[in-house]
Formats: sequence, C-alpha cells, structure tokens
Amino acid sequence: MRKRDDEPIASLMNKILLKIGEDPSREGLVHTPERAEKALRFLTSGYQMDVQGTVNGALFTEKCDEMVVVKDIEFYSMCEHHLLPFFGIMHVAYLPKDKVIGLSKIPRLVDMFARRLQVQERLTQDVARTLQEVLDPKGVGVICEARHFCMMMRGVEKQHSGTVTSAMLGAFRERKETRDEFLSLVSHRNPQF
Ligand SMILES: [Zn+2]
Repeated sequence: MRKRDDEPIASLMNKILLKIGEDPSREGLVHTPERAEKALRFLTSGYQMDVQGTVNGALFTEKCDEMVVVKDIEFYSMCEHHLLPFFGIMHVAYLPKDKVIGLSKIPRLVDMFARRLQVQERLTQDVARTLQEVLDPKGVGVICEARHFCMMMRGVEKQHSGTVTSAMLGAFRERKETRDEFLSLVSHRNPQF
C-alpha cells in the first residue's frame, strides 16, 4: 500500500475540487489537478535550487567602489499563511569591496527565494543576507514593494494598499549618505511599472 505522503499532488487537488463542491469530472476540470500540480511545482521550484548553483561562479574580482543597483526586479511569490500569491518589485544594491557578481544573477537569486512559501519580510532578508555572504561587500540594501492577494481578495479586501519592506546591511545601515544615495537611485519610477 502506498504511504499517505506519497499521494500525488494531482490526486490531492482532485479531492480539494470535490471538497469545495465542484465536479472534477466536468470538461473544464478534467486536467485541472495535473495542471495545478505543475503550476504549484513551478511556483515552489526555489526549494530545488541553492545559492551556489544559482550564482554558478559568476563572481569577479573588480576594484569598484561605486554602488551597484539593480532596480525594479519583478517577482512573484506565495504567502506561506494563505498559499496565495504576492507580487511586486525589488530594488537590490550593494557597495562592492573587491568582488562583483554577474548582474543577471541578482534577479535569479530573487526568483530562487520568491519561488518558495514566503513572507515578504523574510524574502527581503533572504536576498540581502545571501548577497552579503556571497560577495562580502561593504554593504547591501534591498527594498521590496509588494501587493498581497490575501489582502486584496479576502480579509481586509484592500485592493490598492502596498507593503514595503527593506533590509539594510553594513554601510547601508551605518551610513546615511549610502542609504540616501540608494533611495534616490530607486525613487525614479520605471514607466513600465
Ligand atoms: Zn497571506
């Protein structure tokens, strides 16, 4: 007999459809359990990834002491309290000491942490802490602006309220000038968003 926790996600999805009063055999729902499993696996694929594999050696020795900023990084995550999406943009900056990271790796790190069950505060910290560990820079700053479906569709039903979280490490925490430079660089809105 199959152990209980070996039951495929699709078959559990089928049970959920029944529980909410649906008929899983009707045309539109016939393949929904499999599609929902595939979607859920993708949305949580960050569990299958680690920092080393994601950075993949893209660290370079560089004498650069100017702030590096990647702004407006789109992300989509899932709130661990309700299993509903939250999404938004993240601005990530660091002040190099003697190493820089391939720029495309920063959005990849954001995705790795976003594709797990999260709370926005921890997602912000995960990105900041990881860059601090990988690069040992003079400091890291991360600002995350998000909207939560668990607030928009249920609960307080506030469709237009956003949540902002930040994590400031090293020079970004200690030096007001560094923090202000970061804030002014990310305050100009990208018209695409
Ligand atoms: Zn929630």
